Amino acid sequence: MSSLRFQALQDILDREPLMKEEESMSRAELFGTNVFNRSAMKKNLSSDIFKKVIEAIEGGRRLDRSIAGQVATGMRTWAMAKGATHYTHWFQPLTGLTAEKHDAFFETTSDGEAIDHFGGAQLSQQEPDASSFPNGGIRNTFEARGYTAWDPTSPAFVMGSTLCIPTVFVAYTGEALDYKTPLLKTITAIDKAATDVCQYFDKKVTKVITTLGWEQEYFLVDYALVNARPDLILTGRTLFGHLSSKGQQLDDHYFGSIPERAKAFMEEFEFESIKLGIPVKTRHNEVAPNQFECAPIFEELNLAVDHNQLVMDVMEKVARKHKFKALLHEKPFANVNGSGKHNNWSLATNLGDNLLSPGNTPKSNIRFLTFFVNTIKAVHEYNDLIRASIASAGNDHRLGANEAPPAIISVFIGTELSAVLDVVEKRVTGDKMNTDDKTDLKLDIGKIPSILLDNTDRNRTSPFAFTGNKFELRAVGSQANCSSSMIVLNTIVAKQLQEFKKSVDGHIAKGVKKDEAVFKILKKYIVESKSIRFEGNGYGDEWEKEAKKRGLSNIKTTPHALDVFILDKTKKLFKDLDILSGVELDARHEIELENYKLKIQIESRMIGDLALNQIIPTAIEYQNTLVSNVNGLKNIMGSKFKKTAGSQLNTIEMISEHITGIEKNVSLMVDARRKLNKIDDGAKSARGYCEKVVPFFDAIRRDVDKLEIIVDDKIWPLPKYREMLFTK
Ligand code: ADP
Ligand code: MG
Repeated sequence: MSSLRFQALQDILDREPLMKEEESMSRAELFGTNVFNRSAMKKNLSSDIFKKVIEAIEGGRRLDRSIAGQVATGMRTWAMAKGATHYTHWFQPLTGLTAEKHDAFFETTSDGEAIDHFGGAQLSQQEPDASSFPNGGIRNTFEARGYTAWDPTSPAFVMGSTLCIPTVFVAYTGEALDYKTPLLKTITAIDKAATDVCQYFDKKVTKVITTLGWEQEYFLVDYALVNARPDLILTGRTLFGHLSSKGQQLDDHYFGSIPERAKAFMEEFEFESIKLGIPVKTRHNEVAPNQFECAPIFEELNLAVDHNQLVMDVMEKVARKHKFKALLHEKPFANVNGSGKHNNWSLATNLGDNLLSPGNTPKSNIRFLTFFVNTIKAVHEYNDLIRASIASAGNDHRLGANEAPPAIISVFIGTELSAVLDVVEKRVTGDKMNTDDKTDLKLDIGKIPSILLDNTDRNRTSPFAFTGNKFELRAVGSQANCSSSMIVLNTIVAKQLQEFKKSVDGHIAKGVKKDEAVFKILKKYIVESKSIRFEGNGYGDEWEKEAKKRGLSNIKTTPHALDVFILDKTKKLFKDLDILSGVELDARHEIELENYKLKIQIESRMIGDLALNQIIPTAIEYQNTLVSNVNGLKNIMGSKFKKTAGSQLNTIEMISEHITGIEKNVSLMVDARRKLNKIDDGAKSARGYCEKVVPFFDAIRRDVDKLEIIVDDKIWPLPKYREMLFTK
């Protein structure tokens, strides 16, 4: 029987792009057709109920129980017309995935009949048996369940035959067990803090919303090849694999023409996303072969996060249909670029103005500068928290590996805006500003809009870059829930804006004019936060040295990065803003450490398994072929055989060396695991896995990858890099 690898290669020869039936409607017409949005609500709810739901959404409030029944009935009618038979509360537990438990719209009555049913109680709250979701010791299995509750700011939608209701997930004791609960709290916190600051400049601003535009990178690999790679199936990445002769060195994939099969996949995946109200707009090839990116138009943060979680789900489902596997892991292939997510973040007012975009009046330019500088200052104060918020086992492969921004958090703003900050620093002096300085300063600030108009200054190596009208956090992992980093960013900026307001008010109380007070504090921040600003090449070794001099952290691995979550300073910050309690932070810390440890443990087991059960037997098989060849030569050539068989003899020896190397390292790795598994302390054990287990991965891989290029291609069991990355 031929191996799975060869069957897969055979299968791929017959693949054709899976053409989709023509959609009769345009993207714009299809947009949101599977979403219970305002127009669907209007059609399916009485005008009185409709009004109340909209009020709840706009006020960011829970739905009033008294109308939940009528909303549920309208929602069910709408969903059943779309083909839904089941409903689920759709939530985002700390596993990083989304969770759902489906119930049918169906109930039996006392007289033995059955009816379609979905009531207010089912809409508002569900009680999933949550003891098996990560809870970091908040609840043990004996205690009460957690519950999910509808968050009306994100609309319900139909996916396949299921009505999905976005919910928060909390313990009965009140602690958050998900990403959404704290995210919503940060949205409220930053709204309050930013609106207060906006009041200095424009009294008409009554609300500030956070906006997020994510960009999602992924790989597409033929499903048959993935099936022949147990490591890809179980861990999402290849644990072995020699680099192919051609990789990404020609840069011929980036923005290249999209291969037919991939394009057919994208079309269908985009149509499905559009129906779910996800405004996907951009698609292109990425740097690595078979790597792609998709990006939507930006949206309000909570909705954007839900849509990113959904997109990853839709992507996997549609890929399957097209006989692809969409790989979302941060580093599916060693020595080939990995995948990330870029989180473009900004703030917008109820009047529709982007606070990170300067306007036409001097006032709006000062406002721009205020939000711009406060964000930089926040990142300066809490850069370790940003680093922790993007930490994961997968992302450890990218950060600092010369393809993604380094593990050092810094801010890039471009030469022109740097010059503007220098001007503020120079002009704002003394207790009272003189009139000339004030006029000059305003003139300089007045130039910001034109500066930004042709601001092409882009630095792709920076983890946190200002890109004209938003900040772009580029170090997020491709599988991550965007909330993790957005919770931190919103929290630290909200805190910073509060501090700013306190200081400005203090000056005003002492008789300083408002504008002068604002400038004074901004100058102070500009000076204090200089060390976080870096305009050079973030991938270079020079920067590591420079950053060390500046006292910036460079935490390369997840277990170490996470520790900042449980510092007193962090607990105080999150408590002051009412985002997460100390207990909740402890729990999250524990969950993330456990998650890290389990991922490494699975990879380590998989490495041992593949090495001992596939690689070594294959190597021995080939070695046996060589041995019989040498014996045959000896038979016919007698004493002269050694000269003729020299190369085979060499190879036989090399194979033995690699086999010995693998066996030795696997056995040492298993010993290390055994010892660590006896440790109860989660942090200690995660750190142990990082320091004592991970180093064996590369050592074992070196021997395996050498064998890959020695052993006869015909019997090598695992699909090779050239096959996974270049088959179209
Ligand atoms: P790139 O970073 O690839 O050069 P763009 O700069 O065109 O791409 O935009 C990237 C992303 O930024 C898009 O997803 C877009 O929706 C998002 N974006 C644009 N404006 C904002 C904003 N005000 N707030 C949040 N995201 C935004
Ligand atoms: Mg980008």
